[in-house]
Amino acid sequence: MSKKNIRLFKPSLDNEEINAVKKVFSKSWLGLGEEVNKFEKEFCKFINSKYAIGVNSGTAALDLAVKSFDFNKNKNILVNNLSFVSSASCIVNNGLEPILIDCEEDNLGFDINDAKKKINKNTVAIVIVHYGGVPANLKKIIPFAKKNNLKIIEDCAHCLGVKYLNKKLGTFGDVGCFSFEEKKGITTGDGGMVVTNNHKLFSNIKRNRWLGIDKETWIRKNDYTNLKSNNNKHWFYKIDSLGYKYNMNDLAAAIGRVQLKKIKKFINKKQIIANKYYKFLSQCKHVKLSFEYSNQFGAYWLMCIRVKERDKFIKFLKRKMIPTGVHYIPISNLDYYKKYKSSTPKTDRIWKELVSLPYHSELKIKDVEYICKMIIAFYK
Ligand SMILES: *Cc1c(COP(=O)(O)O)cnc(C)c1O
Repeated sequence: MSKKNIRLFKPSLDNEEINAVKKVFSKSWLGLGEEVNKFEKEFCKFINSKYAIGVNSGTAALDLAVKSFDFNKNKNILVNNLSFVSSASCIVNNGLEPILIDCEEDNLGFDINDAKKKINKNTVAIVIVHYGGVPANLKKIIPFAKKNNLKIIEDCAHCLGVKYLNKKLGTFGDVGCFSFEEKKGITTGDGGMVVTNNHKLFSNIKRNRWLGIDKETWIRKNDYTNLKSNNNKHWFYKIDSLGYKYNMNDLAAAIGRVQLKKIKKFINKKQIIANKYYKFLSQCKHVKLSFEYSNQFGAYWLMCIRVKERDKFIKFLKRKMIPTGVHYIPISNLDYYKKYKSSTPKTDRIWKELVSLPYHSELKIKDVEYICKMIIAFYK
């Protein structure tokens, strides 16, 4: 059989990104600088938020977001159990307890009814994951959060550019966190962005992404050499909080700026592929689609299906040169996080059926046809 080289995920990059990187090289300023600043401004405009802060991963974005509220110890935060570990590690890393919430049967997102059962007097926030790029049930989650005085942190690693009720996801809560890891909606290799409309949170996050330092070198670089400047204390800075080295750099930002310009194109391509999958798979009675796949919000991040005998299914596709994934092992099943186990019967049952199929903007329609044909072959 010919080698197919179908990828599960694949970033879409070309000469435009290379040229942007070359420009940064020629300036010889690779660290936190003007490119990051420009990317942040463009990102604000795209998402329609007041502030954006560029960081070096989605995980860093979440860590900084939780930190920015300065919650007291002994508090807890509600979070989807069916998610990537970063959704919960940001809570633990800030000295708080994650309360793991079950998923909804029909879209695998945050189950508000389970949250209502598990909230207690020490609950201070929710980390909402818009799982797979499907908006969480915000019509119920937002009033619930308001009533109980909970902060909302949106984990938008799957949903860059997704619109809901005429607003981009990431602007519904107090803070939104995005990932530009190589498999995500756009990529900078690794990278992330925090968005907020709250100036206090913004300045806290901005300072703490660079060790708590109150100014940034690129802004004052002229002070070093400008003879007209009488400021001989240009080297002076203050630190009054415990920060991280989490800043984005100009190389990553230069790639990100090009990628952001292409996002509409990526979304359109992924919608065409999703439609093709949907047409096939919605007719296969052995396969259950994890979401509705109606393309009404933007692009899904996952082509996620549910099958019985999942492991046999994965093995079969592997032999046909089709890569697959499982998103995710529930957080409560990860050894370190077992101490946070709480009852999530739907997640425990459903995750054993989950399979992610190849899905990215570079995937060819003929490969989608091949994948669907092989799925049908498995059931023959
Ligand atoms: C990818 C991902 C993250 C982390 O992003 P990184 O950029 O890889 O650190 C966080 N949450 C979810 C749901 C993710 O899928």
